[in-house]
Amino acid sequence: MLLFSCKSEQEKMENRMRKFISIFETKIIPLYREQAITSWNANISGTDADLGLSEKASFEYSKVFTDTDAFKELRELKESGAVKDPLLLRQLDLLYDAYLGNQVDTSLISLRLKMETEINKKYLNFRAKVKGKELSDNQIEDILRNSTNSEELQAAWEGHKMIGPVVAEDIIELVKHRNLIANKLGFSNFHEMSLKLSGQDPAEVTAILDELDNLTRDNFIQLKGDIDAYYAKRYRVKVTDLSPWHYQNRYFQEAPEIYPVDFDKYYEKQDPVKLAATFYDGIGLNVDAILAKSDLYEKPGKNQHAFCTDIDRAGDVRTLDNILPDSYWMNTILHELGHGVYSYYNDMTLPFTLRDAAHTFTTEAIANMFGKLAKDPEWMLNMGIIDQNEKEKIADDCSKTLRLEMLVFSRWVQVMYRFEKSMYENPGQDLNKLWWDMVEKYQLISKPEGRNMPDWATKIHVALYPCYYHNYLLGELLASQLYIYITTNITKNLSFTGEKAVGAYLKEKVFMPGARYYWNDMIEKATGEKLNAKYYARQFVQ
Ligand SMILES: [Zn+2]
Repeated sequence: MLLFSCKSEQEKMENRMRKFISIFETKIIPLYREQAITSWNANISGTDADLGLSEKASFEYSKVFTDTDAFKELRELKESGAVKDPLLLRQLDLLYDAYLGNQVDTSLISLRLKMETEINKKYLNFRAKVKGKELSDNQIEDILRNSTNSEELQAAWEGHKMIGPVVAEDIIELVKHRNLIANKLGFSNFHEMSLKLSGQDPAEVTAILDELDNLTRDNFIQLKGDIDAYYAKRYRVKVTDLSPWHYQNRYFQEAPEIYPVDFDKYYEKQDPVKLAATFYDGIGLNVDAILAKSDLYEKPGKNQHAFCTDIDRAGDVRTLDNILPDSYWMNTILHELGHGVYSYYNDMTLPFTLRDAAHTFTTEAIANMFGKLAKDPEWMLNMGIIDQNEKEKIADDCSKTLRLEMLVFSRWVQVMYRFEKSMYENPGQDLNKLWWDMVEKYQLISKPEGRNMPDWATKIHVALYPCYYHNYLLGELLASQLYIYITTNITKNLSFTGEKAVGAYLKEKVFMPGARYYWNDMIEKATGEKLNAKYYARQFVQ
């Protein structure tokens, strides 16, 4: 009897879930396509008319998730615990989170958007004043990168930091408001909510970053010594007199060019699109259909950056680029097509909701893994871009450069992650101190004596792209884990060229599963281990 009633409860709830999905898909599929295609058009033409259509379509799309009756149904299904079929359960979890994030009073959401818009305006209108001259962020970066005059560097750095006091109070108010929204939805703060609603457990992410901190600390201390020696010489100052403005960018988020290799000269006479197409075809992931729909070169009014978009989760995948024959665009086209093959080789028999990446950082991992090949001498040799002689000449500097870049970047992301987490846990604390505590601990850069300014507020991501930064680093960790798995188990060819088995493996273990598994389960099934920092450390530290 008991068995019978359990069974029938499960059947009843699973049927309700099937019905929900069928109504949901009828609504969402055309709206999803509409927002994707109008956004694509707007990014190409840049006209007000196209931007208007795109804004309208994305509003209509997100409106679906504010439906309170639909959420009520999802909550009942979730709380019943009776939906057990793995595919149905996974869709239930994803849809529940997608709706939950939108179940707040619309007045609270509009207030949040208004506060964000106001803060954004202040960032946009701010110009650093240096010796009576107004300078843009790019001009500040240009001085920090190229000047060797300590006084000029300090003036530029301090000038830029004057945006801090302009926005700091507003950001604290916004942080409290975001926390209020999170509390109303049952989360202890906005950081926890952001991670959980994107399918990440904050404790799990923190544990991975702790592991990475442990694995990189000693090596970073040593490399930081090399970096400081390099800078002391460059600026003709004592190592102990090095200050935050001596690190060639506003946040020491990029590494200095201690071992310069001129990659651009190798690509001057190359066609990055042709190289990328040949490479992907060689590993069994032909990209002709993606390239045929893409918009690859510069045009007036067009978005000047690059992205990849899945228009319908049914094979219409495109990338927007502004390709030139240089190493930056070689990296970019390999990167964007990495996103492209992830989407294009998805399993079309999966339900719509699951025809997506396991997480945004898992598709970033694939894109990064392939993008890096643009500066990999082995790849450049196998693709006919350089010869054996040239390869031997640059190989050592290439790997040292990559190692430095990755380590510097990983320490910087630690600052962002720890700062944001702690800020949302207690926005009333001394944030100026918290910021410098993190910078000193993870980046080994000392606070200028006596400084007490809201320097944390100068990083626009803290205000406007909250609680996302760590995903860039998780993407790198996974890129390393996959790369080492593939080069250990699938092929000994370190640059993948011509290895069809690489494409077959990625298709089967990463692309086809889509979002059907929790990201860490997908990673475990693909590599035999959950996401961890060991392989990143093996690739870039030891
Ligand atoms: Zn990307």
